[in-house]
Amino acid sequence: MGRLLLVSLPATGAVIYRCKHCDTPLAYGTDIISKMFRCKNGKAYLFGKMVNVNVGEKDDRMMTTGMHTVCDIFCVACGSILGWKYLAAVEKAQRYKEGKFILDRGVVVAASPGGGAGAGAAHGMWPDHQQQTSGDDDGDDQDSDEESSDHQD
Ligand SMILES: [Zn+2]
Repeated sequence: MGRLLLVSLPATGAVIYRCKHCDTPLAYGTDIISKMFRCKNGKAYLFGKMVNVNVGEKDDRMMTTGMHTVCDIFCVACGSILGWKYLAAVEKAQRYKEGKFILDRGVVVAASPGGGAGAGAAHGMWPDHQQQTSGDDDGDDQDSDEESSDHQD
C-alpha cells in the first residue's frame, strides 16, 4: 500500500454519496443506474461510476439473477466493505451490469448539495430497464441481486 490519494468529487449540484465511517466521497447520485438492488444487509444501488474504492479478489457468485463474476469493493480510506463490482455476467440480459458497482446503502450517507434542484442532465444516459417508477422505498427487489449460497444449477 502506498500513499493514500483520494479523488475528490467537485460539487455539481448532484447528491454525493460518502463513506459512512470516514466521509470519503464515493459517487454522484447522478451515476445511479438502479435503486432496485439488494445486498445481504438490505438496500443497495447500482452505480455506473465510483471513486476511492479498492477492489478485492475476483470471485464467482450465484446471484438471484444468475452467475456473475464479481469482486468486493472497499473504501480506500478506512477499508470498510462497500459492496461489489460486476466483472462479468453469464446471462446476456445481465451484462449491462459489467463494470458497474453495487453500493450497500447502509454503509454510505447521501450528502445533498443544499436543497439544489438535482441534476437532470443524466437522463437518458442509460438504457431504461426500470419498469417501476414507484416502490423506491419499500424494498421491492424485482431486478435485484442477492447473494445466495444454494446454487441449484
Ligand atoms: Zn471509509
